[in-house]
Amino acid sequence: MSRNETLFNRAQQVIPGGVNSPVRAFGSVGGFPRFITRAEGARMWDADGAAYIDYVGSWGPAIAGHAHPAIVEAVREAALKGLSFGAPTEAEIDMAEQLCAQLPGMDMVRLVSSGTEATMSAIRLARGFTGRDTIVKFEGCYHGHADCLLVKAGSGALTFGNPSSGGVPADFAKHTLVLDYNDPEQLAATFAAKGDEIAAVIVEPFAGNMNLVRPSERFLQLLRELCTAHGTVLIFDEVMTGFRVGPQGVQGLVGITPDLTTLGKVVGGGMPVGAFGGRRDIMEKIAPLGPVYQAGTLSGSPVAVAAGLASLKLVREAGFYEQLAERTRQLTDGLTAVARQHGIAFCAQSVGGMFGLYFAERPPQGFADVMASDRERFNRFFHAMLEAGHYFAPSAFEAGFVSIAHTREDIEATIGAAERVFADMAG
Ligand code: PMP
Repeated sequence: MSRNETLFNRAQQVIPGGVNSPVRAFGSVGGFPRFITRAEGARMWDADGAAYIDYVGSWGPAIAGHAHPAIVEAVREAALKGLSFGAPTEAEIDMAEQLCAQLPGMDMVRLVSSGTEATMSAIRLARGFTGRDTIVKFEGCYHGHADCLLVKAGSGALTFGNPSSGGVPADFAKHTLVLDYNDPEQLAATFAAKGDEIAAVIVEPFAGNMNLVRPSERFLQLLRELCTAHGTVLIFDEVMTGFRVGPQGVQGLVGITPDLTTLGKVVGGGMPVGAFGGRRDIMEKIAPLGPVYQAGTLSGSPVAVAAGLASLKLVREAGFYEQLAERTRQLTDGLTAVARQHGIAFCAQSVGGMFGLYFAERPPQGFADVMASDRERFNRFFHAMLEAGHYFAPSAFEAGFVSIAHTREDIEATIGAAERVFADMAG
């Protein structure tokens, strides 16, 4: 038995499913997870000593590559001065100032320790600000595991959602309306019927949790207009897309400013950092200024913030996003070309350093298209690529990530391996 399998068996005795976050268990693709011992730049090594070119990047944070020396040094320096104080530090102001300077709609921001905390707090704040209970989310978007966000669609439009997880009371889920992503007509109808009851709409402005799905600009524009007209707080969940698709997230790309933005991943540079922020009049409702409570013992941790500041410094270097986008496009164009050579129904797209691979003729426009893609083929692709040393997300429903540390040669090697996998599939 390989060491990875031995570790997985051992882990399963004491950790549910052997993992501390479900998708790591390879449940959707089968087989056993790789236990990682080390990562550097674009590469990771597992417990059996196998090396992988990594396209997960810790699910987004590793935009500068793993263990970037500048980030590691910043963490070391901060750690030497003390791990946490439970009192404010100047670095937190630096971080907040940078986020506010960079994101169009961000007047004030608060740091937390995960994306889940950021979205959960943003929803509470929107409810406290508006005095309304109902929130809207879209099927296929993931916003972390707060109760009100673990809700799936009800039996039809304009019906309230059902819990999508055990332990979520139906009484909580009934305050969450679940709509189809990228469906402007349904959105308009929902606001016409219930707009004045809706506290917030939370959306991944480009979705990355049902693979990568880019909605029409009309959909996002309409969201903005309807939220403004009804006094509803528009929350862009940019935990994944923030500093990943470009320097100002999706809001910068599409020129639409939300009322609140949630961030995570890249802003922590690999350490636990999340953030939520936006309009001053809304943010001033948070304790200690206002009545909406939100707190955290380790919020703004000096070590995590040091990593985040170092990460944000790297992405500000001239040409960073141009190179990142170019490398990512090299991957998606290359994979598409070799799939075509072998007549495989496959396509791919990218935005900045984020990409989607689809075993389908066209990129999906929404959740139903994603569900219709060939998952069995994805699983074959995934395992064959992993075997060849190329680590993609272990699920057909996840977006992938390229880092600035991926070289042209790394990407070429991945395309070469995929060519052999597609040839086998076609044969
Ligand atoms: N929102 C989005 C868009 C995410 O992609 C994620 C995590 N993948 C979260 C929220 C939750 O973040 P975390 O896992 O840090 O709690």
